Amino acid sequence: MIVGLGCFAIAAKFSSPRMFIVRLEQLEKRGIFTVRSAHTYLVEGFNNAWNHGALFSLVIGVSAAGGISYLASQRIMRPLKQMEAITQEFAGGNLTERMPESEIPELNQLGVSFNSMASSLENVEQRRRELISDLTHELRTPLTVVRGYLEELADRSIEPSEELYLRLIRETRRLERLIHDLQELSKAEAGYLSINLRKINLIPLLESLVTRFQDQLLEEGPELTLSYPQDLPCVYADIDRTEQILVNLLGNAIRYTEKGSISVTATKENRQVWIAIKDTGIGIADEDLSYIFERFWRADPSRCSHSGGTGIGLAIAKRLVELQGGSIEVTSKLGQGSTFRFSLPIA
Ligand code: ADP
Repeated sequence: MIVGLGCFAIAAKFSSPRMFIVRLEQLEKRGIFTVRSAHTYLVEGFNNAWNHGALFSLVIGVSAAGGISYLASQRIMRPLKQMEAITQEFAGGNLTERMPESEIPELNQLGVSFNSMASSLENVEQRRRELISDLTHELRTPLTVVRGYLEELADRSIEPSEELYLRLIRETRRLERLIHDLQELSKAEAGYLSINLRKINLIPLLESLVTRFQDQLLEEGPELTLSYPQDLPCVYADIDRTEQILVNLLGNAIRYTEKGSISVTATKENRQVWIAIKDTGIGIADEDLSYIFERFWRADPSRCSHSGGTGIGLAIAKRLVELQGGSIEVTSKLGQGSTFRFSLPIA
């Protein structure tokens, strides 16, 4: 439009007057310059000049508009075709495909969104593969132990004993625990773990749990203490899920602390109540801290196989805390102890 109008303006301003003057000069040369005789000639000349101008504008305008449209459509179509090819590759299973940057901001934005979706899908796929390989590993170990013993019992190469049966029971319990934990984790990760948020008073829950765990501790084992301010506010949480988190954290603290102390402390900070479980146990190495909440992660798998650990407990605890609108943190020093703390919103 702009090119067309521009041409028209140029024709009207320069070309048409110029042609008009040329016509007048021709008229003068012929020597017949009376207004009457020149009238038709002048009108004809003016029409001619306009027609030329309009034609000129039309041709330039149409070719410019056509050319620019062609270039613009090529500029849009090329990356769109490329995007189509990439999405087809992606759908075909090549999850590493990514959109290149585009100089058109809208397409660039589309590419960025696609790439972030692709990364999260790739992540999910990666986690799915890891889960399957972790699972097969976790299931195979106790099953191999049980089958081994049963075979030896069958061909009488070992004598049945109480200790042997207890070992078999321990391995089957481990399988049971693993399956139970997995079920909880998959529900928590899929987001359909029922969470019944209500206003709850944490004090009775903490007291009953600490008493329960104190009873389990051996005399020479760690000392378990509880402290909280008298005016500890109520929280908005699910009492069963909060208990589940506490049982997990306390269970770990006891499992990994041979002697010293384990303290449970509840404090109010801003709009949240933080519950910290601090132990003087074996601690966790700095480089391991970032993996601690990942499922199946264990600082030393061989160390935990006898303690029945599956490495799922903290992954579930983290998800449960998040589902209740809180967050979970850990600080630890190898050989000195760990502090796990999580928050719940004040009601
Ligand atoms: P597990 O059932 O193996 O205890 P968790 O997810 O609860 O699974 O814990 C994962 C790993 O984190 C454990 O195997 C252990 O190595 C480490 N861990 C958890 N809590 C503690 C703690 N209080 N002290 C030292 N290490 C811990």
